[in-house]
Amino acid sequence: MTDITKLTIHETLDELKKKNFSVTELTKAYLKNIDQAERYNAYITVCAERALEQAKTADQNYAKGTPRPLEGIPLGIKDLFCTKDIRTTAASHMLGNFVPPYESTVTEKLLNDGAVFLGKLNLDEFAMGGSNETSAFGPVVNPWSKDVDLVPGGSSGGSAAAVAAHLCAGATGTDTGGSIREPAAFCGCSGIKPTYGRCSRYGIIAFASSLDQAGPIAQDVTDCALLLESMSGYDAKDSTSYPTDVPNFVRFLHEDIKGLVVGMPKEYRPEGLNPEVAAYWDKTAEMLRARGAIVKEISLPHTQYALATYYVLAPAEASSNLARYDGIRYGYRASGDCHLDELYIKTRTQGFGAEVKRRIMIGTYVLSAGYYDAYYLKAQKMRRLIHDDFMKAFEQCDVILTPTSPITAFPIGDKEMLKNPINMYLNDVFTVSVNLAGLPAMSLPIGLAANGLPLGMQLIGKPFDEGTILNVAAKIEEDAGFERL
Ligand code: GLN
Repeated sequence: MTDITKLTIHETLDELKKKNFSVTELTKAYLKNIDQAERYNAYITVCAERALEQAKTADQNYAKGTPRPLEGIPLGIKDLFCTKDIRTTAASHMLGNFVPPYESTVTEKLLNDGAVFLGKLNLDEFAMGGSNETSAFGPVVNPWSKDVDLVPGGSSGGSAAAVAAHLCAGATGTDTGGSIREPAAFCGCSGIKPTYGRCSRYGIIAFASSLDQAGPIAQDVTDCALLLESMSGYDAKDSTSYPTDVPNFVRFLHEDIKGLVVGMPKEYRPEGLNPEVAAYWDKTAEMLRARGAIVKEISLPHTQYALATYYVLAPAEASSNLARYDGIRYGYRASGDCHLDELYIKTRTQGFGAEVKRRIMIGTYVLSAGYYDAYYLKAQKMRRLIHDDFMKAFEQCDVILTPTSPITAFPIGDKEMLKNPINMYLNDVFTVSVNLAGLPAMSLPIGLAANGLPLGMQLIGKPFDEGTILNVAAKIEEDAGFERL
């Protein structure tokens, strides 16, 4: 075998069962890749020693013939998940030295299923961004970059870059407005954001609590199904986690899609949509038609208000969630003798980066007396209409197909993108509605644009119907034959 780090998770599990290599060998191979790929800046913290200890236990379990579902699979964890005794920064100075005394539910589930943790992955500060450039630990470089260094997308940019460059077998991400799907698309990976309530948010550093969900980023659809199954499930420690059974997601992948109705929302084809993106979208619809699916146009009439609604509600919730970082209880504290008020101001001025401050200010503004009704309340009402659009659409179709992003990865420090924050926000046009409606959605690579960079397609499903999404995605994956790095 040539390079064992290029295998998918399901292939790796087969090889480990056949004892073709050990978990220790595998873990060392990934650690070597990480060492040699420092220029991607994908990891904030590498836990080599701990990973090798976990690998040893995994090898023993294989020897005893009692492997757990993900026994010995080396994963990277987005540095937004609290990991007991391992520094968890949210890519912010504010939590630069924060070592959580507890484990998030999602990472605990992965550990209980036998996963090995290689380390903590870079992201946009507090997951606020779409390019990984807001990280206090520096930007991540997209492994698809050629002459110029490109962004990996965000906020789970470290996760997608690490998966694409084989610096882990799979990774966790979180998605508040597209943070799993957009980086997956930019780096040629697959990623799924499950239904709100499917995965516990306990121990995930909060950005916008009514929108945040955890999910996997991996090399292919089957790996996403495997990881999602491990990460999912009701948790009494998260009051918004939903008490429903976790299906065997892999089983869905082999179902027929004959007669399945796929909707293509006409509002996702605005005038001026990148013709390459539009062409891939139509080609994907053709692939599904050829397999017997029925493709039809649907309407999501309030789509044009989704971005504005998201960029009122997400900052509003963020401003409230981030009020806890005051320099008193934990995290960064500004030095020098001063009064309490001054200490708060100094700590927050020094601890947060520019994008986080911008969101706190917008959020505080839209929640303030006098503006609450005009912005926050109005956005809440619009959120309901966007949700209802989807529910009506799902009376006519089983799954919705759209592009993931209107563009491919762009250069780090792109002037147009940085000139005005709104230019960056516009990239989220196809992803935010899904979070507002609480629905599951996945991105998978469909092919390369003329510039040689990956483009992603998005599938949106009914609540708790991740199975149908994964099934349709598996068919597209088979037909598209996308070649990974
Ligand atoms: N790009 C979006 C934002 O900046 C989404 C981020 C996310 O999903 N965490 O808010």
